[in-house]
Amino acid sequence: MKNSIQAFQEAKKYIVGGVNSPVRAFDSVGGTPPFIEKGESGYLIDIDGKKYIDYVQSWGPLILGHTDERIQKAVIEAVSKGLSFGAPTLAETELAKTIVNLFDSIEQIRFVSSGTEAVMSAIRLARGFTGKDDIVKFKGNYHGHSDSLLVQAGSGATTFGKPSSSGVPADFTNHTLLVDYNSIESVKKAFSESDNIACVIIEPIAGNMGLVPADKSFLIELQEVCRENNALLIFDEVMSGFRASLTGAQGITGIIPDLVTFGKVIGGGMPVGAFGGREEIMNHLSPNGAVYQAGTLSGNPIAMSAGIAMLKVLTTNSVVYKVLESRAKRLMEGFSESAKKYGIPFQTNFRGSMFGFFFNENEVKNFDDALKSDLDRFAKFHQGMLANGVYLACSQFETGFISTVTTDDMIEDTIKIADKVLSQI
Ligand SMILES: *Cc1c(COP(=O)(O)O)cnc(C)c1O
Repeated sequence: MKNSIQAFQEAKKYIVGGVNSPVRAFDSVGGTPPFIEKGESGYLIDIDGKKYIDYVQSWGPLILGHTDERIQKAVIEAVSKGLSFGAPTLAETELAKTIVNLFDSIEQIRFVSSGTEAVMSAIRLARGFTGKDDIVKFKGNYHGHSDSLLVQAGSGATTFGKPSSSGVPADFTNHTLLVDYNSIESVKKAFSESDNIACVIIEPIAGNMGLVPADKSFLIELQEVCRENNALLIFDEVMSGFRASLTGAQGITGIIPDLVTFGKVIGGGMPVGAFGGREEIMNHLSPNGAVYQAGTLSGNPIAMSAGIAMLKVLTTNSVVYKVLESRAKRLMEGFSESAKKYGIPFQTNFRGSMFGFFFNENEVKNFDDALKSDLDRFAKFHQGMLANGVYLACSQFETGFISTVTTDDMIEDTIKIADKVLSQI
C-alpha cells in the first residue's frame, strides 16, 4: 500500500481529512484507504496496482459495474455537444418520461444534483403543500446532510431530536421528530405529540444502518397513519431505487408513497438526484407554485445522458434483478455458513442487488439493534477482506452491492476469502 499511504498523507495536507466525504477516510475500520487508479468491470484497481472485487460500487450507483461501454458511449456523445447550457434540453424530458412511466407514484419529477438536494427539496415541498412545519424521521435512516435531517435522539422521553452535527442550530432540528424503525407505536406517539406534521420520511429499505428492510405490514400501517393525519409519506429511494428492484421498495411492496426521492443509480455514476410525486403536489414548486427550488447545473446534459443510458439497460433487462438477488443471496449464505462454522454471531439481509451483514447475536430490525453489533470484529473482517482483494464498505452501518458484472466466480472467490478471514477473527 506504499503509494496509497503516501497519497493519503499528501491529500491530508490540502483536503480536510484527505477526503471529500468523511466515510472514505476509513475511520471506523482503521488503516489507509486505497487510492483508486481506475475501475474495470466488477473490479477496482488502486495506485499500487492491487486489484479488488468491488462491492461498494461508488456507494451504489454502478449497478452495471465500472466502465460500461453503453454508458461511456452516451456520455462521450453528450460531451461532444457541450457540457452545460442552463437551458432546457430533450434529454431531461426523456429521462423524466422514463421514470414517470415506471413509477405509479410519480406524475411529475424534478432533477437535482445529489440525493441530499433531492430530499431537502422534497421536504420543503411537503411543508409548502401541507402548510405544516414538523417532519418525522426514523433513527438510523440517512437522508443526506441538510440541517434539519442531521438529528439524533434528544434527552428523556421526547421524540424531538437535537442536532447530530456541530453547526446545526437546535432551532432547525426542533421541527424534526425522531422515531424507531419498524415501530408503528413510535410513529403514533410522534403524531400524538404534534398536530403540525407535514411528512414522514423513510428509507423503505434502510441501507444506512447496515441493510434493514422495513416490514411490509409496518409500511402499510405507516401509510394509514400518514393519511389519517394529512401528512405526506416520502419514500427516500436514493439508494433502493433501481437497486432493490427496478422500481425500488415500491416494486417489492406495492405501496405508493406521496413523494419519492432518487439519487445514486439514477445518474449512472454522474451526480444526479431527483424527486417526484403526484402533479397536485409537484405543482406547488416554482415556477408553477410558491415553493422555491432551483439549480444551476440541475438536469445537466452529461448527467442526463448517463442516466438515460443506465435506465435503458435496466428497463430492457428486467430479469437482471432476479440474477442479482440470487448472487446476493448466495454471497450471504456463504458468509453465514462460515460464521456458523467458527461460532461467530452473524445476521444477513438482501434485497435485489443490495446485501448487508451484522456481527450481531440477534436479528436487526432497527437502529438500536444495529448498534449492538460487534464493531471490532467488523473492523478485523474488513481489514482481512481488503488485504485479500475484496473491497467492502468500510463501516458496519453501510450496505454492499452486487453489479451485473459481479460474476458467480467472483462470488465464490469472495466466499472462500471470507471463510479464511472469519477463521482468523
Ligand atoms: C446516499 C443517500 C442520500 C444522500 O445522497 P447524496 O447524493 O450523498 O447527497 C440520501 N438518502 C439516502 C437513502 C441515501 O442512501
